[in-house]
Amino acid sequence: MRIVLATGNPGKARELGAMLGDAVTVETIPDGFSPDETGATFFQNALIKARAARVVVPDAPLVLADDSGLAVTALSGRPGVHSARYAGPDATDADNCARLLADLVGVADRRAAFVCVLVALAADESMTVACGTCSGRIADAPRGIGGFGYDPLFVPDGRTQAMAELTAAEKNAISHRGRAARQLARGLEVAA
Ligand code: IMP
Repeated sequence: MRIVLATGNPGKARELGAMLGDAVTVETIPDGFSPDETGATFFQNALIKARAARVVVPDAPLVLADDSGLAVTALSGRPGVHSARYAGPDATDADNCARLLADLVGVADRRAAFVCVLVALAADESMTVACGTCSGRIADAPRGIGGFGYDPLFVPDGRTQAMAELTAAEKNAISHRGRAARQLARGLEVAA
């Protein structure tokens, strides 16, 4: 099965490609794909991206879009759908991590969860949706160089290392994206 991934984020493309790669042929969307993510929820944004991708690659048998982010309990679920631009429109991962740490100075409740929603749209408009979460805590300082985004600050439940200190395989086994991808593979009836 040929799947076009509707993401311009190389970190996410790498992880999703690795998860689905054995079962399907994964292609990435042409450069410059960046629809306005105006949705209020991860699902709405994933659907916006999937529909926009369908316009760019109308012949693809399946387009796959994800929306994901970090929900911090003490921040009422923020940064949520604004995770990518939490520190501003041109924020880097380091900027976003610095803003998160600043927001949590003196905050004892460090609970947080990564969330990922995947939407696959077939040529006949039929839709398969999957969702995965990964619970953990926000560390006091960044650690590790793996992954991307908030991984240096996120310590998954049951672990002592930050996500950025895990190997790619260790991250995929427990991550929100890994869980969503395995659920999606079951929905599409392909192995993952
Ligand atoms: P999206 O491209 O709108 O889905 O934005 C997702 C943003 O959430 C990313 O830019 C990261 O800041 C954050 N994020 C999503 N998944 C992960 C992850 O696996 N690790 C760390 N940060 C993540």
